[in-house]
Amino acid sequence: MQFSEVIGQNTVKKTLTQLVNNERIPHAQIFLGSRGSGNLALAIAFAQYVLCENKQGEDSCGRCRSCIKVNKFIHPDVHYSYPTVGTKVISTHLLKEWRAAVEENPYQNINQWLKTLGADNKQGNITKDECLSIIKKLSLKTFEGEYKILIIWLPEYLGKEGNRLLKLIEEPPENTLFLLVAENIDLILNTILSRCQVVKINPLSDEEIIQTLIEKHQLSEDKAFNVARLADGDYNESVRLITELENDNAKLFLEWFRICYKGNGVEMVEWTNNKVAKIGREGQKQLISYALHFLREFIALKMTGDESKLRLQDKEAKTAINMTRVLGFEQVYKMMELMNDVYYYVERNANGKILFLDTSIQLHRIFRKKV
Ligand SMILES: [Zn+2]
Repeated sequence: MQFSEVIGQNTVKKTLTQLVNNERIPHAQIFLGSRGSGNLALAIAFAQYVLCENKQGEDSCGRCRSCIKVNKFIHPDVHYSYPTVGTKVISTHLLKEWRAAVEENPYQNINQWLKTLGADNKQGNITKDECLSIIKKLSLKTFEGEYKILIIWLPEYLGKEGNRLLKLIEEPPENTLFLLVAENIDLILNTILSRCQVVKINPLSDEEIIQTLIEKHQLSEDKAFNVARLADGDYNESVRLITELENDNAKLFLEWFRICYKGNGVEMVEWTNNKVAKIGREGQKQLISYALHFLREFIALKMTGDESKLRLQDKEAKTAINMTRVLGFEQVYKMMELMNDVYYYVERNANGKILFLDTSIQLHRIFRKKV
């Protein structure tokens, strides 16, 4: 992972690269930052920069032999330690799961990690056996690079076992760097803290999250703004919120489509008054955006018949598959045209109740091929 792949945190990136450029790398550092701030991502990018064979001054090259290995989490001189579940389990046993999880999301939190391990109701730990394994690993010579680096994710989970690492951190073997990636300084042994240099990492700003959501997740500016405000500097949380919003929209949309298909006037009025009027203009825009997404996916499905490519969740995908038998292309194109019009009117402050009731009636007519 290069620094350029880490969201924001420009000041910290600069400080970190300068430490390396000036050959002043502390042998033990704590990357202290709240959830979703990117502290783990920064530690990985830092390790990659330290070991890069062709440093670019502000970032690793991303192409040399060493960068490629760090990027794939297979560099023999970069070790990871993280909470696991069970007394005899050590990080090495879960390397495959760890690589996949961090590659997918370097902003993951502890609950997501424990869920990956199928242990979301259990407490994670960095165990005594893990500490012994660390001591053993770091007593080896470096394989390829100038340094061997140990990244401990969430040293909070060391508890008292942390004492076993004290001597190692105080008098580290030659060319060894400790990067402790922590969220809560109060849960780390003072004796460890006093031996580390603290790298303070601030929560991400709303602007940094908004920009990333727009660029990486193709969110509209309004939606990105709303999500970022709720995420409170936690990028990982912002991504979870997008999924949650999608789920809400999908549920509401399917309900709406079923009511329109049946065409019961009372249900249509109730749905419009009780559901759609309450979600406000922004919510209505999101609902219509979801409807357009669903219809586009539906068209692709009807054209190719390939269910595996559907970008819909199980329940919605099932509905789409069932609908292919009753809906023709012509009808779907009319629905999309209608949804585009509705979006336009919502943006221009149309009365939601009237607009959506009218749209529901038109949708019913399209379903029944009356238009
Ligand atoms: Zn490189």
